[in-house]
Amino acid sequence: MSTPREPSFRESVDLMFGRAASLMGLPPGLEEKIRVCNATYTVRFGVRLRGEIRTFTGYRSVHSEHFEPAKGGIRYASNVNQDEVEALAALMTYKCALVEAPFGGSKGGLCIDPRDYEDHELEQITRRFAYELIKRDMINPAQNVPAPDMGTGEREMAIIADQYARMHTTDINAKACVTGKPPHAGGIQGRVEATGRGVQYALKEFFRHPDDVASARLSGTLDGKRVIVQGLGNVGYHAAKFLAEEDGSIITHIIERDGVLSNPKGMNVDEVRAWIGEHGGVKGCPEGTHHEDGFAALEEDCDILVPAAIEAVINLGNADRIKAPLIIEAANGPITAGANDILRDKGTVIIPDLYANAGGVTVSYFEWVKNLSHIRFGRMQRRQEEARHQLIVNELERLDEHLGDAWTMTPNFKEKYLRGADELELVRSGLDDTMRTAYQSMREVWRSRNDVDDLRTAGFMVAIDRVASSYRAKGL
Ligand code: NAD
Repeated sequence: MSTPREPSFRESVDLMFGRAASLMGLPPGLEEKIRVCNATYTVRFGVRLRGEIRTFTGYRSVHSEHFEPAKGGIRYASNVNQDEVEALAALMTYKCALVEAPFGGSKGGLCIDPRDYEDHELEQITRRFAYELIKRDMINPAQNVPAPDMGTGEREMAIIADQYARMHTTDINAKACVTGKPPHAGGIQGRVEATGRGVQYALKEFFRHPDDVASARLSGTLDGKRVIVQGLGNVGYHAAKFLAEEDGSIITHIIERDGVLSNPKGMNVDEVRAWIGEHGGVKGCPEGTHHEDGFAALEEDCDILVPAAIEAVINLGNADRIKAPLIIEAANGPITAGANDILRDKGTVIIPDLYANAGGVTVSYFEWVKNLSHIRFGRMQRRQEEARHQLIVNELERLDEHLGDAWTMTPNFKEKYLRGADELELVRSGLDDTMRTAYQSMREVWRSRNDVDDLRTAGFMVAIDRVASSYRAKGL
């Protein structure tokens, strides 16, 4: 018997969209308008490096413009291609709608393995790629705002912002042309950790609903839960670190490009990350035992599986062997459409990518708003808030004196209560609120309709409904 063909990433996203749309009764024309990708721009450009001209291929895809700017990261990886960029752009549309970030969906990519280049070479390449996109308004604070994705980070975003400012010297909103910049270059506190932090908040919200936890054949809280993480990059590292340090989860397996590190007692995520930084992989790290076959470790026994690296790692080839009762898609598209069906049929609960990794775009939204308002969050209120708290503390101190031993203030209460929130606390609070609200909107559909049997379909339905409403409002 021949193995069924695995759909491409874009086909997978379309299949998941189709399943949700079929339950919604949208006019076929509107359904198609929402599904299709509006435009994809391919650029080839040359950069003189190491005495020769090297040609690079890059993409920027705009899936939807029902809100502008369109938003989505730029990925650096050697296997970037048009299908992948379009799939990721489509996911951005649904993700932004689900977390109510007022953006269309976009994504970019450059076919390059950043590990093959020195920092100054990457700067040259990034500047040239940014130049090609900026001159066509495919990077622009009002039209298209990139962010980091796999293989890119704060440094590339700072270079893009600088390139835009050089080409638009009088644009007062120039900094808002890209998010994920370092805080000293117009970024916002908490953006680097945001996607991993969002994964943690998503899991915390999931565990606030005992019915949902029971659907995954689990109970209790995140404390003591055994977690397998694939990819200890930006997203995987922060998610694993926060789950272990703040919620008591046990990171039993860390899967990287060179295999898997495992330890049933749990590993110190910072130690493993430092080891990878020094040695280029997990092999030899004393935190656990190393095995070459990283992919096989996805099938190990655990409570929560966190794929946080690349797409299609759970596919028709291994889905039936995945033991995790709960999977949270920290990466984009780690489960193919076919694998999704197999997992759903055997009762695995999947917290889908369009929700699970939306923390990044949520905090990017905050950064964009900060750039446009030209003021850091909390700057006007912080001291005023502290002064008002001081009034209450003064009254409590008076009471304390009056009542003697009958009543005393809890130690540390005064320090904690008096301190007004800084930017990082406000960002985390906004992110937490966003992740809770989005989960509840998804869950409401999942739990209230008999024909909706998973969170992904529910998430797509919430998102599609919002995109459809905004198209209708435009008269389409
Ligand atoms: P990253 O480049 O920082 O990290 C990726 C990690 O995965 C690296 O440590 C890499 O070595 C590892 N990896 C790559 N191929 C692997 C393989 N075959 N097996 C095991 N490990 C492998 O990237 P990131 O920003 O953390 O992005 C990871 C995923 O999260 C991507 O799907 C991305 O689209 C998604 N995402 C990222 C953000 C963000 O803010 N960075 C936001 C939303 C979604």
